[in-house]
Amino acid sequence: MMKLSCKDIDSEEDCHFEATGNTTKEVASKMMKHAKEAHADKLEAMGMSDADLMKMFESKVHA
Ligand SMILES: [Zn+2]
Repeated sequence: MMKLSCKDIDSEEDCHFEATGNTTKEVASKMMKHAKEAHADKLEAMGMSDADLMKMFESKVHA
C-alpha cells in the first residue's frame, strides 16, 4: 500500500487527510482531488501547474 498525507507535503499542515492506493499515480491523483477541494487557496499560493503538482506529489508518495 502506498500513501501520502497532507502532513507529508507540509509538516505544519493541520489537515489529517491521507491518500492511499496501490500505485504512486493513484495516490497522487487522490491527493490532487483532495487538495483542490480542501486546499485550493494553498495551491493558488504555490502557483504550480497541475502537472508539476502531480510530479511533486508523486515524489513524496511512500510505502
Ligand atoms: Zn488536506
